[in-house]
Amino acid sequence: MLNFQDLPISPKVLDAIEVVGYEKPLPIQELAIPPTLEGRDIVGCAQTGTGKTAAFLIPIIDGLLAGKSRRYRPRALVLAPTRELAQQVADHAHELAQFTNIKTVCVYGGVDPGEQEVGFQQGCDIIVATPGRLLDHLSKGGLRLNEVEYFVIDEADRMLDAGFLPDVRRIVDELPARRQTLLFSATMPQEMAKLAHSILSDPIRCQVGEVSSRDTVDERFYPVPEHQKTELLAWVLKEEPGLDRVLAFVRTRAKARELAPVLAQALHMEAGQLHAEMPQEERNETIAAFRDGSLKLLVATDVASRGLDITGLSHVINYDVPNTTDDYIHRTGRTGRVDRSGVAITLIAPRELNLATAIEAEMRHTVPTKRVAGFNYEMDEYDGSVLLRPQRRKQTAQPFVDRKTGKKEKPFTSSGHLRRKFRPEEEVEKPKSKKRSLKKLLNKKLPHQRKRKG
Ligand code: AMP
Repeated sequence: MLNFQDLPISPKVLDAIEVVGYEKPLPIQELAIPPTLEGRDIVGCAQTGTGKTAAFLIPIIDGLLAGKSRRYRPRALVLAPTRELAQQVADHAHELAQFTNIKTVCVYGGVDPGEQEVGFQQGCDIIVATPGRLLDHLSKGGLRLNEVEYFVIDEADRMLDAGFLPDVRRIVDELPARRQTLLFSATMPQEMAKLAHSILSDPIRCQVGEVSSRDTVDERFYPVPEHQKTELLAWVLKEEPGLDRVLAFVRTRAKARELAPVLAQALHMEAGQLHAEMPQEERNETIAAFRDGSLKLLVATDVASRGLDITGLSHVINYDVPNTTDDYIHRTGRTGRVDRSGVAITLIAPRELNLATAIEAEMRHTVPTKRVAGFNYEMDEYDGSVLLRPQRRKQTAQPFVDRKTGKKEKPFTSSGHLRRKFRPEEEVEKPKSKKRSLKKLLNKKLPHQRKRKG
């Protein structure tokens, strides 16, 4: 576990951290501080209470130490949706910058702007502001944002809910293009994802606690033998209510070609395909149709879907487990709207189990594992609830027995592939029940009933 002292931050900031009483970085700080110190843009998915404020203030204050303060020219701007939050952030900044010359001015409506102007005049390295009042100051002249090096949008989703998005865009127009941008939000609705896309450059995604989309996304893992993925997916989707706009990610073009007609038939919908081999014009048409809703079902390869910034989907399907947690979060984040929840389905072949478990671990939450009732799994043991949770494996996993030779085999080959010759379920030995018989238990004397010796 990282310590604040392990980070390349100035002793002045470290001293303040000590005085404030932070012993160790909280998870969001551990994730966000190092890349921020390196100059990267950040999308931080974290709710209030996770320590996100210090996660952006510590590296910003440290970064500002290298430069000089100027009147009316803040070098860091933090936008917050409410005056309470703005005040809290400003208080935090005062505390963390207490051994430095860095000055923070808090700007919000409903109070005399004169005092805030005095602040600008005395030097304002950091401005923490609500958007409306900041725009008022900007329109009066004097205050300029052209020297902002760090731009933070805090609680961006609440900013969106409060209708501040147009204001935020106007403020962004005043900022220099060369800057570092950090956006923090507990959820990632469609409009915000769009905003993030337009104002951040190659951001690092830092996520803790609740997954950004988790409140509105029903995530599910479906373990299934590789060769049964298409069949299982068609089965699941046939039963699925609320299919509205479905995006399935596949790894290869061949898979996109195979899957699209199967899903089209199962769902009685036209299915579009998107892969790199298609002419650009056709790709653009497909994307446009999917975006405007005339096409409801799209099967896309990872590569072709890279720049496909479409959110607000009812269902996202990971036909294959994504290679990184970031990809997983990014994809699932495309579903789930403010008003309705979305569904994120991930199919997991045995060879992908480790990847899926790693994604869960990194996200710090467990995705419910589903076994589809009535589906003919060709491998009875491949019930993810057993294999995804290694600690339960011992209790229920049984040896696999070759139907012909009767030889016991491990369920996977050394290369991680699933063995396919099994005895039918009814012939497989049931593990011995660990439950002790009730009768035995009743007959057993409790300690106080036992005769004491002597
Ligand atoms: P925030 O999510 O920024 O509102 O922070 C929630 C609370 O966590 C605040 O009261 C902070 O003072 C506190 N906090 C932030 N970082 C740390 C840390 N590393 N250790 C202990 N408390 C912290």
